[in-house]
Amino acid sequence: DTYALVILFSVVVCLVMSLLIRNWLTATTSIRSNMALALKRNEFEPYFQPVMNVASDRCTGMEILTRWRHPTDGYVSPDVFIPLAEESGLIIPLTQQLMRRVAAVIASSPVHWPEMLHIAINISAVHLSNRQIVDDCQTFLQTVGDKNIRLVLELTERQFVDVTDTTLEVLAALKQQGVAIAIDDFGTGYSGLSYLSKMNIDFLKIDQSFVAMIEEETTTRIIVDVVIDLAGKLDMKLIAEGVENARQKAYLLDKHVLFQQGYFFARPMPMTQFSLYWREEHARYSASPIAL
Ligand code: C2E
Ligand code: MG
Ligand code: MG
Ligand code: MG
Repeated sequence: DTYALVILFSVVVCLVMSLLIRNWLTATTSIRSNMALALKRNEFEPYFQPVMNVASDRCTGMEILTRWRHPTDGYVSPDVFIPLAEESGLIIPLTQQLMRRVAAVIASSPVHWPEMLHIAINISAVHLSNRQIVDDCQTFLQTVGDKNIRLVLELTERQFVDVTDTTLEVLAALKQQGVAIAIDDFGTGYSGLSYLSKMNIDFLKIDQSFVAMIEEETTTRIIVDVVIDLAGKLDMKLIAEGVENARQKAYLLDKHVLFQQGYFFARPMPMTQFSLYWREEHARYSASPIAL
């Protein structure tokens, strides 16, 4: 009897699993085949999230985060479609389209910032190991022209495993153009730390998982302190991401982490809202012109 029950149970489990796997497979396949079409139809939208200098309470930059508004499936998260775009190679045309759109918005904005505004684009490892990225940045910089823009490329530590000769050449060419490099999600990767000495990195972004635990865990505070120390000694600037409340902001400010980003300041916003935000910030700056 027990034997029969175990068999029955196993059969049920297998059935449920195969159904789940089939569903998941059809979902990902349809997302994948939809993506090329979506690119043609301009369904990928750049969202803009401000990066603040909390010492001066000013916006010093924007991170560009992609959103996919599928006409029938609705909102698809970048955590779902970015990995699929990386697999299929579509990530390169997707990023190029994104950079063209962002550059066009900035070029057509009537505002000049008092200081250099940082525009950060997330770049996948496949794109960085391809010389094409150098031309893509060139195009971006030519389009924005005389605006005070510093282009920052964010490379996530999760993917960043080996630094090849091509990568180093690409990075050197980017440096020559004045493009800055940021390591995203710092502290979550499996890549060791040796790349820090091989590459000339401008920014480290403290991963939001650390920021989220700053208040609760002594261990997290120790890790964050060590990262702050490391960045200072290696002459890299820090950006804290995922700052959600005043206590996290204050803790980090106290440790001189001046660049902060998160829902506490502003959520990622669409183009129209961003233009408005940009205009308001500029009015605020003009009203009280202090150095950043
Ligand atoms: P990321 O680059 O580390 O971006 C930060 C993520 O945290 C974004 O999620 C952002 O919306 C979210 N976030 C910002 N502030 C807060 C906060 O205070 N609290 C919390 N809980 N979350 C916050 P999003 O937009 O869903 O993007 C997820 C990831 O997808 C990004 O992580 C990035 O790795 C990737 N991604 C997004 N757009 C692109 C893209 O255009 N290209 C590439 N290659 N990757 C992208
Ligand atoms: Mg990022
Ligand atoms: Mg991140
Ligand atoms: Mg992340």
